[in-house]
Formats: sequence, C-alpha cells, structure tokens
Amino acid sequence: MQQKTFESGAFVGGGWLSATGDETDPALNPSTGEIIAEVPSGTRREVDRAVESAREAFEKTWFDTTPAERSRMLLTLADRIEGNGEELARLESMNVGKPWPVAMGDVEFSADNLRFFAGAARVPEGKSAGEYARGFTSMIRREPVGVVASIAPWNYPLLMLAWKIGPALAAGNTVVLKPSELTPLSALRVAELAADIFPPGVFNVLTGRGDPVGTGLVGHPGVDMVSLTGDMGTGKKVAAAAAETVKKAHLELGGKAPALVFDDAEIQTAAAGICGSSFYNSGQDCTAAARVLVHERVYEEFVSELLSKVGEISLGDPLSGGDVDMGPLVSAAHRDKVAGFAERAVEEGASVLAGCEPSDGPGFFYAPSVVADVGQDAEIVRKEAFGPLITVQSFGSDEEALRLANGLSYGLTASVWSERVGRALETARRLRSGTVWVNEHTNLASEMPHGGIKQSGYGNDMSAYSLEDYTVIKHVMAKLDYS
Ligand code: NAD
Repeated sequence: MQQKTFESGAFVGGGWLSATGDETDPALNPSTGEIIAEVPSGTRREVDRAVESAREAFEKTWFDTTPAERSRMLLTLADRIEGNGEELARLESMNVGKPWPVAMGDVEFSADNLRFFAGAARVPEGKSAGEYARGFTSMIRREPVGVVASIAPWNYPLLMLAWKIGPALAAGNTVVLKPSELTPLSALRVAELAADIFPPGVFNVLTGRGDPVGTGLVGHPGVDMVSLTGDMGTGKKVAAAAAETVKKAHLELGGKAPALVFDDAEIQTAAAGICGSSFYNSGQDCTAAARVLVHERVYEEFVSELLSKVGEISLGDPLSGGDVDMGPLVSAAHRDKVAGFAERAVEEGASVLAGCEPSDGPGFFYAPSVVADVGQDAEIVRKEAFGPLITVQSFGSDEEALRLANGLSYGLTASVWSERVGRALETARRLRSGTVWVNEHTNLASEMPHGGIKQSGYGNDMSAYSLEDYTVIKHVMAKLDYS
C-alpha cells in the first residue's frame, strides 16, 4: 500500500500548523511491519501554540457556550464518526492490527460515548443553593477546569479519544489531545472531521512523542488539567510533573485483572467468557482477564475448557479478508516485551499450556498464550504484560482467592464467576478494583464509570462521574440586602 506523508500533525486553532521540527514518527501496519505513514513529531513550539490557542478559545468563546450548544456539537461529531465509521475502523485495523469486529465496535462505542456526554452535559447535578449563614445566600457552581491536555495510549486510539474529549468538551473545557506516537492516524482523521464543528481552538490535536509533547503539555503553565491513559510508570511521572504546577490530574493506568473462578461456577461459561476477555484486542486491554484464579476442585476441568477455547482462536492479518479473531501486537518491541515475560517465567519453572511463541514472518504476531505453575511473586503474575499472555493459579478457599486477587498494586478490574449470588456479591464487595464483573469480564456502558483504584489511577472515564472530574466547584456567597 502507498505510504502517506503528513505535512502536519498539529491541528491547532481550527487549522493545520506547518511542522516546526524535522523529525517524523512512522506509523506501521503491525500485521505486515510496513510503514503506512510518516507523521510529524511535534515540538515544544507546537505545544505552546496549541495551548495558547486552547486558552484563547476557552476564554473568548467556549466558556460562554450553553450546555445545549456544546451538546449539539458533540452530537454532530458522533454522527460524523459513525458516518465515516468504516474508514475510521480501517485506520484502526491498519495501524493497531484490530480485527474488523473490534475496530467497528470501537467506532460504535465512541459515537455512543460522545452522545452520552452530549446528553449528560444538559442534566448537571447540584446541591441546593440557600442561606447557610445568616444574611448571606450561597450557591455552588460547577465550572469547567479550563484547558485540558488529553494524552492517549495506542491500544484504543479512537475510543480513548472519545472517552477523553467527550466529558472534557461537554463540561466546557477546551482540549489539546496527544495521541500515541504509534497510532496517530484516527485522531488526525477525527481532527479533520471536527474542523467545522467546534469553534477554532476548542479541539486541538498534536502528534508526537511522550517527550517533548506529553511532558511539554503536562509542564505547561497554560494547561489546567492533564488526563492521561497509559502505563502505571508514565502515570507516576505525569502525577509528579503535574504537581509542580498543582494541575488537576486524571489518571487511567494499567491493570492486571484477576478472574476468580469458584467451584460452583458454570465452567463452560466461565472458560468462554474469560478466554474472550483475555485475548480481545490481542490482550492489549487494561481490563483483560490476565490472572485466572481457579478453585482447586474445578481447576483441571476449567483449564481443559479454557485451552479448548484458546485453541479455537484464529490468528491473522485482520485485513486479509479471512475470519480473524486476533490480530498482531502493536509493534515488534511490544511483541518482544510480551515474549520476554513468558521466557523469564519458563526459566523460573512455569509450564506453558498454550502458545508462548512469536510467529515467523512479517508482522508482530504472538500466539494466544497460557502459563501455569507460577507463584504469586512471579514477575509474570505481578506485572502487566499487556498482551495475549495469561497465567492460571489455583486456590483452596475464598480467603485465599481474595488474597491472591488483591495482592498486587493494580486495582482496575476483576471478575467473579460463581452461581451463588451471595458469594459473588460478597467477593465483589471485598475485591479492591474499580470495576467488578459477576459472571462476565469485559462489558462496559457509557453511563457507568470506568476507573482504577490503588496504583491503577484515579478519576473515571465515562458516566456522569467523568463529567464531574472535568469540572471544578466554585462557591459564590452574596450578602443579602434586607432593606
Ligand atoms: P504509555 O504510558 O507508554 O503512553 C501513553 C501516552 O503517554 C502516550 O501518548 C505517550 O506518548 C505519553 N507519554 C509517555 N511518557 C510521557 C510523559 N513522561 N509525560 C507525558 N506523556 C507521556 O502507555 P501505552 O503503552 O501507550 O499504553 C498502554 C498502557 O495504557 C497500559 O498500561 C494499559 O493498561 C494502559 N491503559 C489503561 C486504560 C484505562 O482505562 N485504565 C485504557 C487503555 C490503556
């Protein structure tokens, strides 16, 4: 396919800025390893221009818009995304290696998310205004934070864009969005699609690397809030850098989700559900069931069902026209990182039940992989591999299951598989995770929050809670005139 060269990666103030640096970042097709585009790598000068533009737009136009006006624009963007869905899904598939149903699912969910925030913007919640001190009247105002720097990862480029800009714009903020340097293509296309929807400077897109563009945004005095979705290590750096200027931070970080299969679980359903979650998007999903914990009484039966489901996964180039369940990993470096986890685990005595092989030939494929005989202290259990590589451990009691599940610093998602309602709900209550599913491990809804606890971050995506995250509270108190 013909390689595309972008003249600009900076959609700023309603138009494209000429690139100020000489460097570019290649966007690859991970199924073939081919470069499909060269995208300018942003500079600090572009960061300054984008932040200035977002600030001006916030102060001069966007702050005065009504929820209804913002809502209409978000609805138009949702329609455009849906109307250009096949093209956007193709970009996602080409640049991330997503199977077609995953890529189209991302498009539909992105549009749904923007529509949710278009509605939510119009139904704010608030405490009663009133006289809380004699002779004074008080009101609480929820106001936009200001200029938001939104920094996105590569695993769901379009969906993360929607999760970030939906609540930020709906709440009345202006945005500078930095997509991942690995997967900028859908964000650049959305910038084009949005060009005539929002006033200039309200929605800006800036391509480039974590440093200088991400660091430049986080440190910039003109940015009021930073919203990062990324690795836990990046989150710590961003939180520390944001603290320098006391910026509000919203951190959606990694996960290492446990799936707890009890001895009263419906084993076939659990195996199918966990397999579906673990290898969706090639396991490059912060919510993926990465640590499967199984009661020793049903361990053999469950593992046999799981391996049979894993054996049915078809691996291939999503754009080859065949039926593909799982595509490649995003890059050679990431594939090697995932492979490294498996190799070190095997050196330490783990057993390979499936996969653990990079495939030959072009593209960054890695077979769906299952590893057993691992202890709670093993690196493969404790650290996020973020690929199609899962571990299976057994437990003997509910207490032990919870100890293993809660024993890491991650706390993003978890699932409980049990036919006993009381046991499932008690386990859900005691799991230290931002989301707990019962007899399910993946489903999300725009109305419901998604966010981590512990070192998986703070703040929520989706739902009315996310809208609140993108606001500040102001108390206005006025002296009453009794005369
Ligand atoms: P990453 O942390 O490497 O990069 C994320 C973004 O941060 C990129 O745009 C990158 O350029 C930028 N960045 C890197 N260093 C930076 C710095 N010092 N300052 C500012 N910006 C910087 O993560 P990734 O590899 O792109 O994404 C995978 C990670 O994202 C995984 O850990 C995954 O679990 C997590 N993730 C979490 C969620 C969630 O909802 N919690 C969703 C998707 C992905």
